[in-house]
Amino acid sequence: MGGENFYMLTKYFGPAVIKKLGKLKIKTVRDLLYHFPSRYDDFSNFTPISEIKPRAQLSARGVILNAKNTRIFRRNMVLTEIIVEDDTGAIKSVWFNQPYLINQFKPGRLINLSGKVVINKGRFCFSNPAYEIVGYREVERKKESLHTGRLVPVYPQTTGLTSRWLRFAIKPMLKFANQLPDVIPDEIRKIYRLPNLIHALSQIHFPGKIEDAELARKRFAFEELFVLQLFTSLERLKLRQKTAPVIKFDEVAVKKFVESLPYKLTDDQKKVSWQIIKDIEGPKPMNRLLEGDVGSGKTIVAVMAAYLTALNGCQTAFMAPTEILSRQHFEKISFLLKNFDISVGLLTSGEARVDCNPIREPMASNGARKISKKEFLKKVENSEVPIVIGTHSLIQKNVVFKNLALIVIDEQHRFGVNQRAAIADHHKESIPHLLSMSATPIPRTLGLTIWGDLDLSLIKEMPKGRIGIITKIVPPEKRNWAYEFIKDEIKKGRQAFVVCPLIEESEKLSKKSPEGIEIKAAKKEYERLKTDVFPRLKIGLLHGRMKAKEKEKIMSEFLNKDLNILVTTSVVEVGIDVPNATVMMIEGADRFGLASLYQFRGRVGRSEYQSYCLLLTDSTLASVNERLKAIESAQNGFDLAERDLEIRGPGDFTGVRQSGLPDLAMASLTDLKLIEETREAAKIILNADPNLKKYPSLASRLSEFKNRIHLE
Ligand code: ADP
Ligand code: MG
Repeated sequence: MGGENFYMLTKYFGPAVIKKLGKLKIKTVRDLLYHFPSRYDDFSNFTPISEIKPRAQLSARGVILNAKNTRIFRRNMVLTEIIVEDDTGAIKSVWFNQPYLINQFKPGRLINLSGKVVINKGRFCFSNPAYEIVGYREVERKKESLHTGRLVPVYPQTTGLTSRWLRFAIKPMLKFANQLPDVIPDEIRKIYRLPNLIHALSQIHFPGKIEDAELARKRFAFEELFVLQLFTSLERLKLRQKTAPVIKFDEVAVKKFVESLPYKLTDDQKKVSWQIIKDIEGPKPMNRLLEGDVGSGKTIVAVMAAYLTALNGCQTAFMAPTEILSRQHFEKISFLLKNFDISVGLLTSGEARVDCNPIREPMASNGARKISKKEFLKKVENSEVPIVIGTHSLIQKNVVFKNLALIVIDEQHRFGVNQRAAIADHHKESIPHLLSMSATPIPRTLGLTIWGDLDLSLIKEMPKGRIGIITKIVPPEKRNWAYEFIKDEIKKGRQAFVVCPLIEESEKLSKKSPEGIEIKAAKKEYERLKTDVFPRLKIGLLHGRMKAKEKEKIMSEFLNKDLNILVTTSVVEVGIDVPNATVMMIEGADRFGLASLYQFRGRVGRSEYQSYCLLLTDSTLASVNERLKAIESAQNGFDLAERDLEIRGPGDFTGVRQSGLPDLAMASLTDLKLIEETREAAKIILNADPNLKKYPSLASRLSEFKNRIHLE
């Protein structure tokens, strides 16, 4: 038994529970056992009731004297109250809106309570504590408790499955642990002193002491990083055996192209262009990440490489994370190449276009020509379109390139490790060169782990004449000041973005933040701004659920200055370039991650005008403040990425979530020592047995991992 066939949970639970578990991707006993607590509450000592004082966490044990439900009509809720007594005294405990609890709270039963003690009407009282009925009076005192009176595991919360439920569900499943394969080979376990699987599983869920839980956690982090290291090592070996098309450097042509640009390249742009030219000239596939701050001018570097590729008679797939950005790239790149005999194509879900090359198609009016998708795909297959722009769907199966030699992935952090794997996995011997670009610097540890030995190019220098963006946190009482400010900028001829966290009000489970603050929705805010705040201005609405055509229309209206203000959502997060816009106002700024905020801010400050980023927040939480202050003071993305990693941990780092990495592996990506140990371990195993013949369970875990990454 093992792998994905390991006992399906349908044997143990009803359909409702199975559905909820499914949301957590838990299908088998193994999945359930690998669903780890996010923390432990230490309830290992009972306090005599007479000694209880208001505190965040306390445990007590006693007999239930009485229990009752009271309906509070005014607040529309039900209050469940019990009185519990031990040898020293009695205390009240209350729960809200869980009237069914009363069925368990029979007088005479012995109960453990663990949680917060508050003062209520001058008396101490447990408020919503964890509880467990441990018996009847003193008779069953010894019965082992899961929820109270010990280190209690707390699981990541999901709708409908409480930690309490998970504790009940997981405990009996532990007996199956001995049927799970331990994928860490014994010799590796010995070197790094890791507990075996059975022990680690029981200790991570129900630890005796916190140190045991920590050791178990380390073992599982090791396990996941170890599998990841095996994966990247094997990928690397595979990549080394591949070749790539040779793209010859044409100095005269490149010079001519560079001279046609409306500006001079910065020294950094020249330097990285040269690195890329050198890479693609060789027969080994390029695997390069180009990092440069927002607005540093990465696009032109990639266009130069694509141009060179086209001169060599080969094709480039140029991929962007959104359709809006693809279209913008298409327009810019066809413009840049308009005097060169190179045709550029755009493929999105809704349309296919090729630019009208004035040399080849002198009769066509300017602007792009729409063609059917079928016709487009045929042209790509015949290599009539050397540069094809689109979203990541470009490398999906139905697009066949005749001679694809270069893949450009813009805003790489939005994609996972999977693209690179998908490309390298091609059964052909020759694979395209890969250039990924990112404005969100990937911290070194993360990069090393996810991409192994990827080459890195940096653009540190900004094009001349850029002025820093002024960033301000705007508290609720200054909202009107912000609106006046926007009006002034618009009077000067500038434009503004207003970004909202949601599209519609009905979205998500809650319209309120944990602090009970209303979250702005773009549609409603658009109406409000249009009628109440800026009745004289032209305002547009843009969000991800609009049809491609509408999006395009709004975007071009904004670009052409037909709109003063664009109310929008995270669809404008990456890449959008509207140089005349100088205000980026972000509603509910606390709802966005630092990396996103940084990207939003990068949408302004793209011209000679002073630009501003206004972060609106109603939150007063200290943690929120810390994050927003970080963005207020960060002037470059590299500092910010490190800060982001510090504040939130790598799990929330933009896009890494989508990378297909398991949570624990992600949580360990800042642990350099563990990364090095697992890399060493992978080396030991692969040197001895590169095909993992002696380690069938490890091999099967690895193929599971691959599948997951490829399917994302
Ligand atoms: P990013 O690196 O964020 O993708 P872009 O490639 O979109 O940045 O470039 C941002 C803007 O800077 C574009 O409008 C582009 O035309 C302009 N630009 C690029 N390189 C230079 C340069 N060397 N001098 C002046 N402007 C430049
Ligand atoms: Mg860009």
